[in-house]
Order: sequence, then C-alpha cells, then structure tokens
Amino acid sequence: MQIAVITILPQMFAALKFGVVGRGLEEQVQMHLFDPRDYTDDRYRSVDDRPYGGGPGMVMMVEPLVKAVEAARSALTGAPPVVYLTPAGVPFQQDDAVRSARLDSLILICGRFEGVDQRFIDHWVDFEWSIGDYVVSGGELPAMVVIDAITRQIPGVLGNQHSTFSESHLDGMLEYPQYTRPEKHASDSVPAVLLSGDHGRIGEFKRREAIKKTFATRPELLTQRVFDENTLRVLAECLADPMNQTILINQEKSDAKKQGS
Ligand code: SAM
Repeated sequence: MQIAVITILPQMFAALKFGVVGRGLEEQVQMHLFDPRDYTDDRYRSVDDRPYGGGPGMVMMVEPLVKAVEAARSALTGAPPVVYLTPAGVPFQQDDAVRSARLDSLILICGRFEGVDQRFIDHWVDFEWSIGDYVVSGGELPAMVVIDAITRQIPGVLGNQHSTFSESHLDGMLEYPQYTRPEKHASDSVPAVLLSGDHGRIGEFKRREAIKKTFATRPELLTQRVFDENTLRVLAECLADPMNQTILINQEKSDAKKQGS
C-alpha cells in the first residue's frame, strides 16, 4: 500500500519510525510526504492567508494544496481517495482502518491554523475524518493515528497475525481484560480459568468479560449490534447486577448533564 501525506510539517512523521508500525512502514507500506510549501511561487513560501469575512487566525490556501495533491496522485498507483483530517469530519473508526488497509493507495491532508479553504474540501476531498471530538493544533497527529491504525491491519505487519482478530472495536465490542506473569500480585490473582488450559472455558470467559467490559464502559456500542443468545444471557446478568445498575444510573445522569449544559 502507498500513503501520501500532505503536510507543512513533514518532520513530525519521524514519530512513525518505531515499533511494529515502523517496521510495517519499511516493508509493507510506502509513506510519501508532500509539503504544500514546495508548491508555492512567492519568496515566503506562503500556504495560508487571512479568512474572508474576518475571524481569528489564518486559513490554508487552495492552490498549494491542489498542487501537492496532484504531485501525490502522480507519485501513487491506483486512484487514491483524498481524506481531510478535521474535527468537523465523521469519526474515524476501526471499520475505516480495516477497509482502508485493502486500498492500493490513499492521500491524507493535514490542516494547520484554522483549517483549509472550503473550496479545496468541496472539489478535492472525498472523505473528512475526525479522530475525536476535540481540537488539536494540526492534522499531523490525526494522520499518524490513522496511518498507525491502517498499517497494523495489513497482513504480515503484526508479528502474530491473530492479534487484530480479538481487538477492541473489531465487532463493536471492547477487548476482554488481559493478564500476564506473575500469577499473583499482592492480593490479586489471575482468574483461575485462564490457568486451566481448557480452551473452551477460556474462550467463554473472554467472551463474557468482553461483553461485561463493553456494558460497563461503552454501553452505547451495544445498541449498534444484533445479539446471539449467549450474549443476551450475559447482558441480562449484567443488567441484574446492582453494581451495574449504579453504572447505568451514573451514565444517564452524566448524559443528562451534558445535554443540559
Ligand atoms: N478551526 C477548526 C475547527 O474549529 O474545526 C480547527 C482547526 S485545527 C486548530 C487545525 C487542523 O488540525 C485542522 O485543519 C485539522 O486538520 C486538524 N485537526 C484538529 N483536530 C482534529 C481532529 N479531532 N481530528 C482530525 N483532525 C483534526
């Protein structure tokens, strides 16, 4: 796969050199960096200007971005979709990472300042992705998050190919809790079933714990899926547990507070 990134801070992408994704970027994914400043005509290499109609800060101009995208398109194979990273985009999710990992190529646009001229978005951008409901100073960290999430979905990048099969968000569930040595730490022991060697019981334990974790931490994820009988049984147990009732009531209170504020 090839990923082109349009950024005025290409140096930041050195952060992706490390770990499994760093290896993936050496072997399976080619990353190409394009700096819009290289596609400017003035001596200051300007890529931004003041917003029409007033308002704070600066806005990235169309022309250098278009030229950088054209350069990226000629360097990549296939017909890469163009994605603008923006807090005003749709949430980037695990599904998007899985689907994008099957593409030949992809172009990511990193905004800076107050963002980019809307005409660039209207005519050059296929998708707008947000990494969360908060604002960071530039699209570079969001692009790196997206590149990391996509790269680890490419076969062969993770040492253990099964690592991505049980991860959080794969099927709308969070991952079960994990334990490693020692078996006992202070008064806490590893759940006995994990030491039993009984793979059937271990699998059942992990499934139940994944459902319970999702119920406790992100109950809204559970509204987005259809349940089999086993899952429904575990959910019924969760609902009957007075401790979980407290979690639900607190969640409702905090949702109501957010809506009221
Ligand atoms: N004025 C913009 C707004 O209110 O939507 C925010 C601009 S932000 C300071 C600068 C750049 O950071 C954006 O153009 C975008 O590329 C990137 N960015 C900031 N937060 C992001 C997020 N949550 N997801 C993806 N990109 C983000």
